[in-house]
Amino acid sequence: MDLGIKDLRVLVTAGAGGIGLQTAQTFLREGAKVHVCDIDTEALANLGTNAPGATSTLCDVSDRDQVAKMMDDAIKALGGLDCLINNAGIAGPTGRVDEIDPADWEQCINICITGQFNVARVAIPHLKASRSGNTSIINYSSAAGKFGFPLRSPYAAAKWGVIGFTKTLAMELGENGIRCNAVQPGPVDGARIRSVIDGKARALNISFDEMQSRMLANQSIKSLIPPQQLADITVYLASPLASTISGQDISVDGDMQSLA
Ligand code: NAD
Repeated sequence: MDLGIKDLRVLVTAGAGGIGLQTAQTFLREGAKVHVCDIDTEALANLGTNAPGATSTLCDVSDRDQVAKMMDDAIKALGGLDCLINNAGIAGPTGRVDEIDPADWEQCINICITGQFNVARVAIPHLKASRSGNTSIINYSSAAGKFGFPLRSPYAAAKWGVIGFTKTLAMELGENGIRCNAVQPGPVDGARIRSVIDGKARALNISFDEMQSRMLANQSIKSLIPPQQLADITVYLASPLASTISGQDISVDGDMQSLA
């Protein structure tokens, strides 16, 4: 299928690792032009091998001065902007609300939701100036943005916030032809989640498979989410094939029913 995104000018935050890198690679394969930012200098240095053709800026999305410089770099490298992927996010602290250090709360909120505002506010003038006829913003939320998530209140609060931010942006920007959608991943397969499952399995003295099936008990489709499925849905939402899809929160989570 031709997605029709050759030469689409795309900015991916946190694009040097994880879902962001896979998304950047998928855009590049489809012929898009990609600029990424990240806080990991080593991962940025590896982009030449991992995502040949991508340009990049060292930038923490929670720092507005760094974001301003990053946007300048992106516009110079891409020659304008058609699509923003607000992917950066961190797990934040684990603990009950009355145990969480306020500094940890603020860091999680600052990266997971204020970071999306920081990048969107400087991206919007460029999206409005685009003459590509296909402009959009895709914000990364989480399954934690549709359920309560005990012991992870800052992350859940931020990821629910992403949904309100997305739906509001979609309404504000519709008259400019700019679409805005959110993606809500479930547990994404990768080294990190496998080591979490392994650690819990050892602690409970059960097998890896038993621990994984307990973890996936709240999903209709009992599988970790392949990161490529997130890259693919993101690239599809950014394409003209999705020209009437806006203001939506799209779950890729095996039909999760609860995070309790
Ligand atoms: P990750 O932890 O693998 O990190 C990806 C990249 O983000 C890394 O290269 C890291 O250096 C960069 N990064 C971290 N903080 C940053 C900052 N302040 N500014 C710029 N870059 C920063 O993340 P991931 O698992 O690929 O998740 C991507 C998005 O998907 C996040 O918003 C996350 O909350 C969301 N999500 C992930 C999962 C999952 O299971 N992995 C589930 C639901 C939602």
